Amino acid sequence: MDHLTKVFTRKAFEEQLEIMIKASKVKLKPINLAILDLDHFKEVNDKFGHLVGDWVLQNVIIACENVIDQDTLIARLGGEEFAIVTPDISMQKTKLLLEKMRLAIEKLDCSPTGHNFNVTASFGVTSSLISGLEQPILLTHADVALFEAKNNGRNQIVEFKGDQ
Ligand code: GH3
Ligand code: MG
Ligand code: MG
Repeated sequence: MDHLTKVFTRKAFEEQLEIMIKASKVKLKPINLAILDLDHFKEVNDKFGHLVGDWVLQNVIIACENVIDQDTLIARLGGEEFAIVTPDISMQKTKLLLEKMRLAIEKLDCSPTGHNFNVTASFGVTSSLISGLEQPILLTHADVALFEAKNNGRNQIVEFKGDQ
């Protein structure tokens, strides 16, 4: 478990994802993998300090956990980047869930830090129906979509649509 945010570490995530991949193969049901990356997070640290940044990381994850069900896996991939895996549900439902997370983050009241600011996050998401059931490819494709979300202006969800 990650000390700061109390979600799975990257290593634990890889183990959990492998279990979900095996289950997906048995049940013949897809999984969806998203990467969440906070927008301009360096600015939060630079303007208000590392402790405020830590508060944001903790509270963003609490906000996300409030909108997910128990089948959804959340893990900290590193820094201000998190993975979200939804097994057994469609891409459409996954995107609705990510949209709830996006809104919850946008609406997060950061005033307990003593500063007045808002945070947003960008998401890249892919499905095993498009990317297959190999971890590195799922992660790479979600990352490609995330890169597009950042380039399109951030604070949005982009679905990987396949290699062009
Ligand atoms: P972008 O919108 O392109 O993602 O910009 P960004 O500023 O979020 O991205 P960048 O990768 O430049 O900065 C990430 C920052 O995250 C830099 C680092 O200081 C901060 N960070 C990473 N881990 C932690 C942490 O555990 N605590 C705090 N407070 N900050 C962290
Ligand atoms: Mg970032
Ligand atoms: Mg990042």
